Amino acid sequence: MSEKTFPFLQFHRALPQEVPVSIRVLGHGEIHGGFANGDAGDQAARCIDCGNPYCSWGCPLGNRIPQWLQLVRDGRIEDAATLMHETNPLPEICGRVCPQDRLCEGACTLEEGGFGAVTIGGIERWVTDEALRRGWRPAMHTQERSGQRVAIVGAGPAGLSAADRLIRAGIAVDVFDRYEEAGGLLTFGIPAFKLEKSVVRTRRAVLEELGVVFRLGIEIGRDLPFAHLLDGYDAVFLATGAYTSVDAQLPGAELDGVHSALPFLVANTRRLLGTATTQALPDLAGKRVVVLGGGDTAMDCVRSSIRLGAQRVSCIYRRDEANMPGSRREVKYAREEGVEFLFQRQPLAILGGEHVERVRVAQTELVSAAAGRAQSRIVAGSEQELGADVVIQAFGFLASPPDWCAEHGITLDANGRILVGGPGRAPQQTTNPKVFAGGDTVRGADLVVRAALDGREAARAILSRLQAVTAST
Ligand code: FAD
Ligand code: SF4
Repeated sequence: MSEKTFPFLQFHRALPQEVPVSIRVLGHGEIHGGFANGDAGDQAARCIDCGNPYCSWGCPLGNRIPQWLQLVRDGRIEDAATLMHETNPLPEICGRVCPQDRLCEGACTLEEGGFGAVTIGGIERWVTDEALRRGWRPAMHTQERSGQRVAIVGAGPAGLSAADRLIRAGIAVDVFDRYEEAGGLLTFGIPAFKLEKSVVRTRRAVLEELGVVFRLGIEIGRDLPFAHLLDGYDAVFLATGAYTSVDAQLPGAELDGVHSALPFLVANTRRLLGTATTQALPDLAGKRVVVLGGGDTAMDCVRSSIRLGAQRVSCIYRRDEANMPGSRREVKYAREEGVEFLFQRQPLAILGGEHVERVRVAQTELVSAAAGRAQSRIVAGSEQELGADVVIQAFGFLASPPDWCAEHGITLDANGRILVGGPGRAPQQTTNPKVFAGGDTVRGADLVVRAALDGREAARAILSRLQAVTAST
């Protein structure tokens, strides 16, 4: 065995350069810089091309990872970007925000062998950033315009992904969104320290160059009736997300100083973007902030609170660290930045006069479940109270399909999500054959990469339908 044959013995796993903790908490910028060109090549060369691409199977999009790692190793950056775009319409975004430890990198053979996974996400991000910077653009699959038009409702990752596939196939695409910026939660939910907003704006500009039209600040159902889209377009893709906050029904949730996660994060993003805000951002300077919840949204809230000058930030979660739903990487960063984690604590009530003063919690014990994460059970007599000036509730989100679905023959499932697929329907097709849906509005709160997958697959199904309609006329 020589180092020449197995570069992973020579080059250890390395992430793109990281901004030191003492500096990164002073601002809201991304905490990773790029690879130097040679470094990305060395990291890509760590891939042993094991023959069973577990990484590709671990990626919801089925990215052809070993193949594009080979191109990066050979310095063929634009070719690698082209190959990435064949399966992933948003590689620079997924490279930044995917929980790689649970997906592609978690499945890497080198990780299994204890050598540290290839830094797949970091390379995907760097390659696309670099290719776009050099002027590379995704190629149109055809120069012919079909004359057919598709309306997309929602400019989040599901909508952007579908727009990419449709426009490159020669279909005219209008993307409607109620927000003033494109990106959905990429822009307004995920904080800038994970995903700089300029990255989303660059992707929007790339899509506009290809011909996608963004019609922002328009809420379908309020500013424009859905019937207008059904009448004026050949197909419609609904990608309206999941925005109903899970309500833990805690006594005291109505007190001053208690906030919901998403309005808090949106207000912070709008402040950074300098765009309109209807909700004031709470002043956290010098305050004791308690965040309730253990998912990625909770991690975004604790890390944003640190950057907003909170004196102490605690995260309360009812299970243990191993059973947290959030990415391990995010917990690590939060801890480095000074967040205190209180595991196996169940919040019972928020206490105070007019303003929050304390949170009552109880200790929990874990009971293993037949499937899924362990369940938590309160330990009798273990209650305690924690001082708090601000409480942020981050218990997750449920799908929130538009209330006009039923009147247009779009059926919901038993969990209130838009129903797609099933007998007699194409993947992502709703019970109205002209309407397709995907992303969080179909899955419930999930991941960017799976929203991108749904957009890609919806576009494929829409193209088949449009071709069939053309052939029959
Ligand atoms: P969204 O991104 O929610 O986009 C839906 C869009 O539809 C919105 O822009 C909305 O304004 C628009 N819309 C809705 N109704 C209408 C209407 N009637 N008319 C016009 N427009 C409408 N996932 C990860 O993979 N990694 C992460 O690190 C991560 N962090 C997250 C952090 C937070 C705080 C949150 C809340 C989620 C996070 N997620 C993360 C999840 C991820 O953001 C979502 O799964 C993903 O954005 C879903 O994409 P989508 O396109 O389905 O919906
Ligand atoms: Fe990994 Fe996400 Fe990229 Fe797939 S899209 S290779 S899961 S970072």
